[in-house]
Amino acid sequence: MEDIEYLVVGAGVTGLSFANFVDTAPDNWLIIERENEPGGYCRTVLQDGFVWDYSGHFFHFRHPEIEQFLKDRMPGQRVETIQKSAGILYNGHRIDFPFQKNIHQLPKQDFLECLHDLYFRNSDRTIESFLDMVHARFGRAIAEKFLVPYNEKLYACDLDRLDADAMGRFFPHADIGDIIRNFTQADNSSYNATFTYPAGGAIQYVNALLHDLPDDRICYGESLQHIDIDARIATTNRRRIRYGHLVSSIPYVHLMDAAGRPWDKTQFTWNKVLVFNLGFDSKGQTVDHWQYIPDRDICFYRVGFYDNIFDTERMSLYIEIGLSSDENVGDTNQWLKQVLSDLKTLGIVNQQQLISWHSVLLDPAYVHIASTARTRVDTTRAELQPHGIHSLGRYGGWTYCAIEDNIVEARDLAHTLGPKKPTR
Ligand SMILES: Cc1cc2nc3c(=O)[nH]c(=O)nc-3n(C[C@H](O)[C@H](O)[C@H](O)COP(=O)(O)OP(=O)(O)OC[C@H]3O[C@@H](n4cnc5c(N)ncnc54)[C@H](O)[C@@H]3O)c2cc1C
Repeated sequence: MEDIEYLVVGAGVTGLSFANFVDTAPDNWLIIERENEPGGYCRTVLQDGFVWDYSGHFFHFRHPEIEQFLKDRMPGQRVETIQKSAGILYNGHRIDFPFQKNIHQLPKQDFLECLHDLYFRNSDRTIESFLDMVHARFGRAIAEKFLVPYNEKLYACDLDRLDADAMGRFFPHADIGDIIRNFTQADNSSYNATFTYPAGGAIQYVNALLHDLPDDRICYGESLQHIDIDARIATTNRRRIRYGHLVSSIPYVHLMDAAGRPWDKTQFTWNKVLVFNLGFDSKGQTVDHWQYIPDRDICFYRVGFYDNIFDTERMSLYIEIGLSSDENVGDTNQWLKQVLSDLKTLGIVNQQQLISWHSVLLDPAYVHIASTARTRVDTTRAELQPHGIHSLGRYGGWTYCAIEDNIVEARDLAHTLGPKKPTR
């Protein structure tokens, strides 16, 4: 049996970051990755001249040293910094995102309803869920016209299942003063008011994380199947490995399965996202980088326009469809037909001809963040840590976060477990 100090499970952003920041000889760590390539959800597809991610992946760095670390390892790669333009298609009108700050752009009757209900909202009550939160903060009309239908389409669940703060810093909060001020002075600033994107797609950030790592320390096509917690032995589809620490970025519930620990199916729920990447022969609208679609008759909740990032000549879209975890995806070709028909209904596709497409299912995509599940994850992580097991990353931590958060979390763990290796 092989012995390794740090067995890293998953070659996504989290696993690769840990290997970059753990200050030890490469012989002391090993990454096993189920797929035959690295990157996890941060992968890119190159097809017929189009560059597509596993759904649009755009980047907002809050730690300059992390951004620099990545850039230093992407020589020759063009990385654009873009001022975001995001719209909402509402009943045949386009308004700026976020909805709650741009109700003055709605048709008059909708605007009056939103303003009336915002003013007379009942905010003096206990908030128990995301659904309560949107009603209490913004009133009935804003909730019912956008926040509820959009988020139900995205999360594919009743919104009273989610914690009030389920989206953390990613939810665009605004108080009544912000909303009214926005009527005359547009300020739609948000966590991602600008974003960066590499010409070669999101995978370029993964390539940056691979830059310093010896290839032979990453074993592709090898998946974790079982863990003996007390003996510190991991069984994969190929071998048994004795580890000092097991650093896992696989979904928490899959780690529990491997460890033979039960988890409550009523507590741990998530959505899956069916992504279509679509390449057309000519260009469409030139304003937005992405658009939100609250209309329940349209099958997708968001559409993104890669061609408006680098101003290329052919419309290149990503489409996101939220499905519940137990829903059977069915026939992808049927979905594609529906997507194309809905794109025509919305006026996004007119004369353009589809010339290339690709689809991928992200499962899990957005975990349903609820306090019961969060508490369970925190307790289990604390219990497993003395046994050398660390569950982290977006799915290992059962959370909502961006890739920079994954890099920071992995770096912090590497620094906790060993000497600090500087980020440079
Ligand atoms: C729809 C969507 C849009 C997003 N958009 C953005 C964005 O615009 N900007 C941004 O910063 N972030 C975005 N994110 C978040 C980003 O994708 C994640 O934060 C990040 O990719 C998570 O990296 P990770 O390494 O923690 O997990 P993953 O990418 O899931 O990596 C885990 C790895 O573990 C492997 N694995 C799984 N099971 C096993 C096993 N049993 N054995 C071995 N290996 C296994 C998987 O194959 C995978 O490679 C988005 C996420 C989604 C779902």
